[in-house]
Amino acid sequence: MSKWYRQTENTDGSVTMAVVAPFGETEIEVRFPCHICETMVNSSDSIEVIEPFYGADTNADSERASDTDICSCDKCNKDFEIDVVNSFGGMYIQVGGVKDGNIEYKIIKEDREPGGGD
Ligand SMILES: [Zn+2]
Repeated sequence: MSKWYRQTENTDGSVTMAVVAPFGETEIEVRFPCHICETMVNSSDSIEVIEPFYGADTNADSERASDTDICSCDKCNKDFEIDVVNSFGGMYIQVGGVKDGNIEYKIIKEDREPGGGD
């Protein structure tokens, strides 16, 4: 069964990117503690990790972001925006107001075959 992985935040503030979706078509769920009341908040839907931009020359240019998922805390109704970015170097997740190292993700659908699925 899929398990939750915690995003790794490095001491210099960067995030270790996870290679989960080199060819796109992968879906994840995201969860994190609300920074106001510490209730665990889950993404409202599964989020598709889209494939990197293969025409790019550099890792930075290959970054492509999924549609922003907006979810809210059940307890205090704070709204959060979840952005998932994928690149040659891997994926990272950003949630407004939440420390990168507090964000966890679970892979719920994975396709590692090029051009697989539709
Ligand atoms: Zn809250």
